[in-house]
Amino acid sequence: MTHLTRRQMLIGTASAALAAATPLVTSTPARAAVPQAGKQAPGYYRYKLGSFEVTVVTDGKSRVPVTDGFVTNARKADVQAALAASFMDTEIFYGPYNPIVVNTGSHLAVIDTGNGEAAYQSTKGLNGQFLTNLAAAGIDANAIDTVIISHYHGDHINGLLKKDNTQAFPNATVHVPAPEHRYWMSDDELKRAPSPRIEMLFKNARRVIGGEVAKRLRTYEWDEEIIPGISAYATPGQSPGHTSHLISSGNSKVFVHGDVTHAPFLFVRNPGWHPFYDHDPVQSEVTRRKVLDMLADKKMMVQGYHFPFPGLAHIEKTATGYREIPVPWDPLM
Ligand SMILES: [Zn+2]
Repeated sequence: MTHLTRRQMLIGTASAALAAATPLVTSTPARAAVPQAGKQAPGYYRYKLGSFEVTVVTDGKSRVPVTDGFVTNARKADVQAALAASFMDTEIFYGPYNPIVVNTGSHLAVIDTGNGEAAYQSTKGLNGQFLTNLAAAGIDANAIDTVIISHYHGDHINGLLKKDNTQAFPNATVHVPAPEHRYWMSDDELKRAPSPRIEMLFKNARRVIGGEVAKRLRTYEWDEEIIPGISAYATPGQSPGHTSHLISSGNSKVFVHGDVTHAPFLFVRNPGWHPFYDHDPVQSEVTRRKVLDMLADKKMMVQGYHFPFPGLAHIEKTATGYREIPVPWDPLM
């Protein structure tokens, strides 16, 4: 701290009085501001759930052109109208990624891992931000003892590996849904892969889950309590073994629904729309309506992996479908 002497203070007062008495004849150039930051602040958000602490840590977002086949059973113009109604870009669809960390008091668990460090380079920072933001949130990746995976799509599993292909969470047991694991590891299913895109997903799942990660793998069944307070809930469709997770502590609950609905402003409001990445769109719609009904009936909070950050919302029924109501940012815990 700088201490002003009485003499400096008197001079200062005199200068101020003189300045006030002198007419302003020339305009003073505005003081240059400090340089702009030019990048986003670290993205994480924390909330209490009973005695648990949940930290949502953004992995960034995707960038997908809105094409005719983006929703397989809706016209592009209708999809663009829904995007415009939510003041979203109508040509490019941006989908965020929201992995979470749950501190239960006895476990430090990550649910889904984002696109991985390698994606940070290949997307020029658009996604693959999870590890950086995790560190910014003060969470040590080495302290994670539990990783829970919802399904084997790259945006959920690729973050298991760092860019040098070593494990991102070297001290964690990696819990994966048994039906999902069976499907993607089956050579018969690979032979039956219905499209080059699904074939590519098979190759990626085997690349990530094989090797070092396989040694720490544990499969869990639907309805199983994976660790105390986090249970598996069957939500197939988006992929054959797609699984959601119910986190409970005391009377508090949040339903971590993975990709049951992708962007809520499209697929919560239009639950009958089939996004192109749904493995079994009919099954996916059945699951989606069942989950949204349950969430609306029980007034249960939902944590959406592809909802706008931090992805926490309630669901209510409307005349034509459902509507998501974001839980407001709480500056306190
Ligand atoms: Zn996803």
